[in-house]
Amino acid sequence: MQQDKEYVGFAALPNQLHRKSVKKGFDFTLMVAGESGLGKSTLINSLFLTNLYEDRQLPEASARLTRTLTIERRGVEIEEGGIKVKLTVVDTPGFGDSVDCSDCWLPVVRFIEEQFEQYLRDESGLNRKNIQDSRVHCCLYFISPFGRGLRPLDVAFLRAVHEKVNIIPVIGKADALMPKETQALKQKIRDQLKEEEINIYQFPDCDSDEDEDFKRQDAEMKESIPFAVIGSCEVVRDGGTRPVRGRRYSWGTVEVENPHHCDFLNLRRMLVQTHLQDLKEVTHDLLYEGYRASCLQSLARPGARDRTSRSKLSRQSATEIPLPMLPLAETEKLIREKDEEVSKYLALPQPPRTPSLLRSPSMASPSHRLQSCPAQLRRMQEMLEKMQAQMQQSQTQGEQSDTL
Ligand code: GDP
Repeated sequence: MQQDKEYVGFAALPNQLHRKSVKKGFDFTLMVAGESGLGKSTLINSLFLTNLYEDRQLPEASARLTRTLTIERRGVEIEEGGIKVKLTVVDTPGFGDSVDCSDCWLPVVRFIEEQFEQYLRDESGLNRKNIQDSRVHCCLYFISPFGRGLRPLDVAFLRAVHEKVNIIPVIGKADALMPKETQALKQKIRDQLKEEEINIYQFPDCDSDEDEDFKRQDAEMKESIPFAVIGSCEVVRDGGTRPVRGRRYSWGTVEVENPHHCDFLNLRRMLVQTHLQDLKEVTHDLLYEGYRASCLQSLARPGARDRTSRSKLSRQSATEIPLPMLPLAETEKLIREKDEEVSKYLALPQPPRTPSLLRSPSMASPSHRLQSCPAQLRRMQEMLEKMQAQMQQSQTQGEQSDTL
């Protein structure tokens, strides 16, 4: 009976989505953090086959002693088989360089939060369709192969960011370790992460209908964490035959893309081929939602802005502040901006009233326009009312607590 049914053509729906996404391109923001000299820039170049750091100047050893952490953003557009990816790499030079490293990770936390804040602002504005997503989708955190696991600085950093970004821990310069030592270090790091209750990126479960090969690769990838990686910007000839990316030593060559030598391939497969979209989704649905919810809560929370609680918060470190807040002045500014946008929208010059133009909702009179896109305007109006009510509520509560 099924085959008697007429063909409608829904089967082509995925193609439409595919074409649209390819046309739009993909963007991804990757942060690399960890001590200097652990091979972060070399690994990024090896991962994406670019030379993202050609203009980099390395500071002298003496300058490093007092060096503070800076945030550098570099972008590159990669095209492969007609698919464009706009990759932004956020580097954190100076991390852990200084003699006094206390709180040196705070600029990173602030940076991640600023990207969330920017997105929240853009999302609440009128031009929601063209939002530039600068949120950090993943942080590759480099751990030294020379230590005995996570150092206090690693733990402090990971704790400060683990609820704001997807963390993927990696052991840099893994050619410094023998396979047995690598496994022992991995186990130690896994135990420490568990003990310290640090949440790293959780790989989603494999679908039961996936083929066996995929399932095996997925399990292998999960077992590899933290990925032990080797990077190299050089292509060497292995025995004069096959050109490979690797590091040549007097005793032989370490191959970056050889799964017996390191987890580079697993990391690249995971980051690019299998989990890029999931990393973006977790950033949006979980990490950003958490930030957004806490912002809204702090706006509506009774007494959130009274003097007592503010003086208490100022004594805490920035990472301990429980709820990030949009300042009241910011909220007022946002409301004013929205008011202006709505008025501008309604005051657009009217076109000549030809019958054909009048039929076009975008060119009709303001009142007609109001009716033609009621959902958008209703939503804006509701948002304005909500924000005004919240402001009034917190003002009244502030006054009440002042009189008490
Ligand atoms: P970053 O400061 O963390 O960005 O480190 P770099 O990528 O600049 O690397 C610092 C030095 O380590 C350079 O001399 C690299 O050639 C070297 N290097 C990078 N990756 C590796 C690796 O996997 N193994 C070894 N042995 N050396 C590496």
